[in-house]
Amino acid sequence: EAKQQGRNTWQWYGDEASSLMSEHVEMRLELQEAIREGQFLLHYQPIVDTRTGEVRSVEALVRWQHPEKGMISPGLFIPLAEQTGQIVAIGRWVLQRACQDMARLHAEGGPALPVAVNISPLQFRRAGFLAQVEQVLETTGWPAERLELEVTEGVLMSGTDRAIEVLHALRRRGVQVAIDDFGSGFSSLRYLRQLPISKVKLDRSFIHDITHNGDNAAIVQGVITMAHHLGLKVVAEGIEAPEQQRDLMGRDCDLLQGFLFSRPVPLDRLAGLPTHLPAPRA
Ligand code: C2E
Ligand code: MG
Ligand code: MG
Ligand code: MG
Repeated sequence: EAKQQGRNTWQWYGDEASSLMSEHVEMRLELQEAIREGQFLLHYQPIVDTRTGEVRSVEALVRWQHPEKGMISPGLFIPLAEQTGQIVAIGRWVLQRACQDMARLHAEGGPALPVAVNISPLQFRRAGFLAQVEQVLETTGWPAERLELEVTEGVLMSGTDRAIEVLHALRRRGVQVAIDDFGSGFSSLRYLRQLPISKVKLDRSFIHDITHNGDNAAIVQGVITMAHHLGLKVVAEGIEAPEQQRDLMGRDCDLLQGFLFSRPVPLDRLAGLPTHLPAPRA
C-alpha cells in the first residue's frame, strides 16, 4: 500500500515536472520571439517623499505584452529569463528604454525624474555591463546622476571583488545604486557599510503587516536607524494603506512606494500624475 502510494506520488511528480518543463521550453521560445519582435513595455511607479508626498523618482517595471495571452507580469517570466540568459537582452532593452523615456518626458516639458532600473544578477555580472550603461547614457543623453540601479542583496553577497569593483565604477560615474528587497536575504548592514550604495529598499514582506506584527516593526525600525547611521536613505515598498504610511512616517523612513500613491503606470499616464501624491495625514 505504501509502495503503491509511493509509486503514485512519483507518477504525479513526474507528470507535473514534465508539464512544467514543456511549459518552460515553450516560454523560452516565446521569449525569444518577444525579444525579436519587441513585445516588452515599461510601466513606471512613483516613489514619494515620506513627509511631503512629493514624487522624487520612479521605478521602471517591465511587462510582456504577449500577442495572445495579454499582459504578463515580470514575476512570471524574469526568473526563467534569468535561467536561460535571455535576461541580458531584456535588461539591456529596459535600461535603454527607461533612460530614453525619461529624456523624452523631460524634453516634452515634464520633470527630469530620476529613474530606477532593476538589474538582474546575471546582467550585473556580465563583463560588458559597465560598457552597456555607458553606451545607454551616451546615446540617450540622460544624466548619470538621474539613473539608479536596483540590485538585490544576492548580487553583492556573492561577495566577488568584481561585483564590488563594478559598484565603485558606477559610483565614480555618478550612477546611484540601491539594494532592492532588503531583508529578504541575509546581508547585514555592517557589510553594506563597505559598499558604495545610496539606498536600501525594505522588502514588501516587512511592510504588509507592519501595523500588526511587532517583530517586523522592530526589524524595520532597526534597519532605518542603522541605515541612517551609515548615511543611507531607506525606501519602504508596498505601501497600500494610510496606516502603513503613518507608521513609517513615525519611524522616519525617507521614501515610500506603493499602490496607496500609484500603481505602476505607462509613461503617458505618468506625465499626468500630480507632482505630489496623497498628502501624508498625521
Ligand atoms: P521589485 O523590483 O521589488 O518591484 C516592486 C514590485 O512590487 C512591482 O511588481 C510592483 O508593481 C509591486 N508593488 C509596488 N507597490 C505595491 C503595493 O503597494 N502592493 C503590492 N502588492 N505590490 C506592489 P512587478 O512590477 O510585478 O515586478 C516584480 C519584480 O519583477 C520586481 O520586484 C523585480 O524584481 C522584477 N522586475 C521587474 N522589472 C524588471 C526589470 O526590468 N528587470 C529585472 N531584472 N527585474 C525586473
Ligand atoms: Mg525594484
Ligand atoms: Mg523591490
Ligand atoms: Mg520587492
